[in-house]
Amino acid sequence: MKKAAHAVPGNRVIHVLPQALADRIAAGEVVQRPASAVKELVENAVDAGAHSVTVLLKDSGKTLIQVTDDGSGMGWEDALSAFSRHATSKISVPGDLDNITTLGFRGEALAAISAVSTVELKTKTGVEETGTMVRVEGGAVKAHEKTGCPTGTTISVRNLFFNTPGRRKFLKSDRTEFRHILDAVQRAALSRPDLAFTLVSDGDTILKSPAGGAASRMEDVFGKKQASGLIEFSDGAGPLKVSGFLGRPRFARKGRPEQYIFLDGRPIASRAIGHAVYRAYEHLLEKSSFPFFVIFLTCERGTVDVNVHPSKLEVKFEDESLVYRSVLSAVKRALGAHDLRTEMAPAPGTNGEGLSFSQVISEPSARSRDPWRSPAHDSGPPADLFRGHPADGEEGAEPPPPGTEHGQVWQVHDKYIISPTPEGVLIVDQHAAHERIIYEKAIVRFESRAGESQELLFPQTIELSPADAALVGDLLPLLGKLGFVLKMFGARTLIMEGVPSDIRPGDESSILAEVLALYREDEQRLKLDPREQLAKSYSCKAAVKAGDRLKSPEMTSLIEQLFRTEVPYVCPHGRPVMVKLSLSELDKRFGRTS
Ligand code: ADP
Ligand code: MG
Repeated sequence: MKKAAHAVPGNRVIHVLPQALADRIAAGEVVQRPASAVKELVENAVDAGAHSVTVLLKDSGKTLIQVTDDGSGMGWEDALSAFSRHATSKISVPGDLDNITTLGFRGEALAAISAVSTVELKTKTGVEETGTMVRVEGGAVKAHEKTGCPTGTTISVRNLFFNTPGRRKFLKSDRTEFRHILDAVQRAALSRPDLAFTLVSDGDTILKSPAGGAASRMEDVFGKKQASGLIEFSDGAGPLKVSGFLGRPRFARKGRPEQYIFLDGRPIASRAIGHAVYRAYEHLLEKSSFPFFVIFLTCERGTVDVNVHPSKLEVKFEDESLVYRSVLSAVKRALGAHDLRTEMAPAPGTNGEGLSFSQVISEPSARSRDPWRSPAHDSGPPADLFRGHPADGEEGAEPPPPGTEHGQVWQVHDKYIISPTPEGVLIVDQHAAHERIIYEKAIVRFESRAGESQELLFPQTIELSPADAALVGDLLPLLGKLGFVLKMFGARTLIMEGVPSDIRPGDESSILAEVLALYREDEQRLKLDPREQLAKSYSCKAAVKAGDRLKSPEMTSLIEQLFRTEVPYVCPHGRPVMVKLSLSELDKRFGRTS
């Protein structure tokens, strides 16, 4: 081991970092990737009162990012001081922080960007004859000259992160960086439809949108087709104005949600607002589908703090729950004004409260092993079977559409699912089947980075026994991969902020307790690998039980998913999941010859 410098007593080892190094470190917070530089430069252009903003890229910003605006421009001195840390024209006294009307205010962006690249600034104010050019390389001013240029500002950023090779190495592929930049420009464009935006990448015009209204901006950013599937709404009833565009349920997507939230013209990130929107869609979407939406919030001055994080994406509302309720009710009202039920696919099979079971368990993707699929019966995916049926207040099995026999399911004794197949009859143990599905998902999640989790609106506090507390401590990483978002608070208190998406609302804390209890029980007997063990106890506790009444879409989905597992025939404990009776077997029993 290298001997640490602090070993020598009396020798001072703490020293203030040289400015250039400190700036480079600070730069990391503001400029994480090319897209962050683009975001900051575009914000500056908007703050400067530009009517038109043009972004030019080479190699996804790695070689060049150039932002041109026709805004106020800067004078000779200002053009230079703009690069100093905490140099800003936007606020001056502490009280200004409570009333920020510009996108920028921290005075950090230009300092940060120029600390890790070569920046050339050309700018001219409306009252000046000649403009100013400033060049800064790695934080050092290399030129400050008069130059000819139009009113406004052009900033060219070259060789981003040239002096922070670590950061440069961590940049993702050009395509990924480009997607982030596009996202930043799209958000800027959406937040200000009254300004013209252009994005050109390696000579291709990616976005060109003249100044106009919100609806035409939506078309320019997302394309006519997607924009035509949106519901525009505006709700000014409460103290908070909420407006925007909501995706119809049939455009909902699996996987990464596509959501855009703006507060007073500033793109923000807010899990609470996203959650409020999902809640409003609740019965219209399958679990793990996310609606597309664009939401604009207009707040009274002073009710929100935007100075929470260097990226300025996070904000703090004075009354978070008011915001939540306003968004929830505005979106609910907007969706309620349209008959969207007929476009639900697959059908939701709601049970009136919270997420329905089918929403929780269904996750159709591959259909390769669809049990009802045979060449003779290939008349459409099962997901379509229940389309168009009323969503609420239905019990038991429904007849499938005439002419199709597949997809028929019955539940008997609230325990088994019976369904005809092309070859005969299938009988499935509902608990064992669901256990198998969840077990395999769990094993996959352990191998992947992080589980899909469902944020709890109200985090739950769980008091643990000392034994459970110790166990949770050991299992925390695995539980996290399953999708539990857990934090230990002190020695015995657990705060649960999220749960795996398999878990039914209302059961959250009891399931975790049951999983832990079963784990400890099995641990005594089985001595398995912890992953295996946890997957077993978790699947057993999260699965539907014998005695749970299921609706037909839930059963359909269960069987579909079962046939997509690796080992559909046995449950994780080795019991059979299904029994198949062939027609010939039945015929034999009944003494039929044909
Ligand atoms: P902030 O935007 O937080 O004030 P920046 O480092 O982004 O900090 O910019 C510093 C200052 O430089 C701004 O306050 C503004 O006065 C000036 N400035 C930056 N970009 C432009 C621009 N495109 N047009 C006019 N002035 C600009
Ligand atoms: Mg700025």
